[in-house]
Amino acid sequence: MADRYQQLVNTPIGKLVAKQVGLPNPPRLERYTPGAPVIEGTVLLGAAPGGRLTGAIAGALASAGAETLTAMQDEVRGAAADAGLDAAIFNPDAAPESQRFKALVFDASGIADSEQLHEAWAFLHPVIRRVQRCARVIVLGTPPEDCDVPAQAVAQRALEGLTRAIGKEIRNGGTAQLVYVRPGGEAEVESTLRFLLSPRSAFVSGQVVRIGPSVTETSDTIDWERPLTGKVALVTGAARGIGAAIAEVLARDGAHVVGLDIPAMSQELTAGMDAIGGSVLAADITADDAPAQIASHLLEFHQGVDIVVHNAGVTRDKTLGRMPAELWDTVIAINLTAPQRIDQELFARRAVRDNGRIVCVSSISGIAGNAGQTNYSTSKAGVIGIVQEFAPALADRGVTINAVAPGFIETQMTAAMPIGTREAGRRLNSLSQGGLPVDVAETIAWFASPASRGVTGNIVRVCGQSLLGA
Ligand code: NAD
Repeated sequence: MADRYQQLVNTPIGKLVAKQVGLPNPPRLERYTPGAPVIEGTVLLGAAPGGRLTGAIAGALASAGAETLTAMQDEVRGAAADAGLDAAIFNPDAAPESQRFKALVFDASGIADSEQLHEAWAFLHPVIRRVQRCARVIVLGTPPEDCDVPAQAVAQRALEGLTRAIGKEIRNGGTAQLVYVRPGGEAEVESTLRFLLSPRSAFVSGQVVRIGPSVTETSDTIDWERPLTGKVALVTGAARGIGAAIAEVLARDGAHVVGLDIPAMSQELTAGMDAIGGSVLAADITADDAPAQIASHLLEFHQGVDIVVHNAGVTRDKTLGRMPAELWDTVIAINLTAPQRIDQELFARRAVRDNGRIVCVSSISGIAGNAGQTNYSTSKAGVIGIVQEFAPALADRGVTINAVAPGFIETQMTAAMPIGTREAGRRLNSLSQGGLPVDVAETIAWFASPASRGVTGNIVRVCGQSLLGA
């Protein structure tokens, strides 16, 4: 459904009125178009002394072709030069007033105690007001649980408050994220940096991502434009809404998509799959024989599957005291039990190929809870449980498992909400608007990439930094 308020306040007169009376002014977010560079504009790279990630970040920026300036420290300049990053130095005192940045990237891994958090301030303070619209602020650190010394763990944990607050301060469509890189995961930062720097992450803000060492031994060279070439992806609930967008984006990135939806949606599903060269699997995922049917289809026609996206989901809202058992059972069966049964069958029959990717679709209702949605919130919190429970075991076969937790996304599901709830859902986030299905899809494509070998066990919200459950 169109966000008419956003359209109105983006007219010259609407902008003026909104400003005068203090109404939210949702900015137009930049979104990715195929063939566009990873980032258009200058990146400023800085680090706290002793950072262990600066070289890896510089390497990723060089590979992404990002126009970069470095902070004045010798250590940063040296790491950039060693990584082959051609970057001039930025001197805040001498730079022209017109110098603007599209992204600020700070390696905070060298911060060993709370006093050294000053380094983050020293890097960001002089430049935070020089950012362009839809800018990116990315801070990288060490997960507190991997720190040897308590003072370092405390300081690294503190970075979460910094990035979340920046997400709320930055205007004009800007976002801020914290990326924790475990020791040994340095070489795995590129796919995540590319995603977070680019307009693909338009509606992702205030998130904490954890990257670890690669769960696979091999690291093939990657075609960043079509990283999923040769891969087979199963997308459940692919006939419309977010599922249709996931199918489109995975196909754009080179995958053959097997779109699954209930038989009643076959017409829409077939039209969608025809448009992207995908294939159709009509099934109700809660049917007793659905897991076997899905596994047989994937093995018979595709010799297995590389990417499984558990997107099919429903809401059946009622407050708990008014909720009949069937509404409870339906939501749990579709949203939570079915993905587990399907995974179980696919793994039992070795249908998921090595280095596979499982992506679940949770919801901020599963994080924050939501009145009228005890069934849905339970199911979506359970989906987070699936990710947390299975990530360590699947890593043995190079398989990653992650979840997206969408906030308010403009789909038929949210269009059906009462207007008050709908407007609140749209505005109560740092970007004061709803996200688009493509925003969820791009996040899933990042998880699905063969380059995201070190990204597992993450729950990433696609919610514009919603105030709910923040
Ligand atoms: P939607 O209702 O537009 O699409 C869901 C699709 O799943 C439909 O095509 C439907 O036919 C299919 N489906 C439902 N039950 C099925 C079953 N038993 N077997 C096979 N397919 C089935 O919903 P959407 O807004 O696109 O949501 C997609 C996912 O995103 C869901 O898991 C939803 O919970 C989640 N989500 C959506 C939002 C949002 O704002 N729209 C927010 C958070 C999470």
